[in-house]
Amino acid sequence: MTSGERDAVFAYVDKRFDDFVADLSAYARVPTISAQTQAFDEGAVATTYLLSRWGVPSRRLRVPGGPDLVVGDVVQDPSLPTIALYNHYDVQPVDPLNEWESEPFAPQVRNGALYGRGVADTKGNTVAQCLAQAAIRETLGRLPVNLRFVVEGEEEMGSPHLLPFADAHPEVFRADAATIEGNDHNERGLPLFYMGSKGILSVELEVRTAAVDQHSSYAAVIPNAAWRLTQALSTLRDERGRILIRGFYDGAHNKPTREERAYLGKNRWDPKEWERGYGTKLLVKGSTESGPATRARATRP
Ligand SMILES: [Zn+2]
Repeated sequence: MTSGERDAVFAYVDKRFDDFVADLSAYARVPTISAQTQAFDEGAVATTYLLSRWGVPSRRLRVPGGPDLVVGDVVQDPSLPTIALYNHYDVQPVDPLNEWESEPFAPQVRNGALYGRGVADTKGNTVAQCLAQAAIRETLGRLPVNLRFVVEGEEEMGSPHLLPFADAHPEVFRADAATIEGNDHNERGLPLFYMGSKGILSVELEVRTAAVDQHSSYAAVIPNAAWRLTQALSTLRDERGRILIRGFYDGAHNKPTREERAYLGKNRWDPKEWERGYGTKLLVKGSTESGPATRARATRP
């Protein structure tokens, strides 16, 4: 893209900025809380409507046991590579409600920012990518790649039904590259590029030490489930942060390649800025947050 073309694309983005805010606001008004099985159908409807408004033909695919998957395609030329744009239309629950300054599902612009559940993660991503592809397509007349939007409805609960669906329908997810939410800009405004992604593992532990509730004075003789659970929890992870569950690291790409190391060397990430921002001490170089000695190690560059 020449700089003149880039200017034209950005001018298109500016011109349609109000449409972007309006569409994102409408999309974020749909209360798609997957953990509460809420508004799955409305979420899928809103997603297909959104994509079509930005010129992306889409369809809904039934995911057994879960919300529909919305798939949208922009086929520029079948011989070009395809990029999959993965997003989700579900959101996290909204409590505690008293910490919201405006209604979570009534997005509001305040001081130049849009506030509402899902305006970032990831309804915002989907609408931004809709706008971006429209800007390039309508300004330059064509995209340099094909795009496949893949928008699911239960990411915030770990996508329990999507994995078996993906195993059964790999063609839906087939692409030459893929994007996923999560990237951002650092504290200095530089765009971040992540070189990997991690998944999620949930562990549920259940402890029962007696058939009925006991008076607390029996704690000396009757095993206490809370203490048993505390001991069990401490077996999941060591004090350096390493997960101790057998098989957890199987297949993990845990050593950076020479090329990745070169990129990492250029990364100007400053842990101190994070520590200031989050008001904490980071787990850096395997040190832990606990104890004065380890705390000193964690802050050393
Ligand atoms: Zn997300």
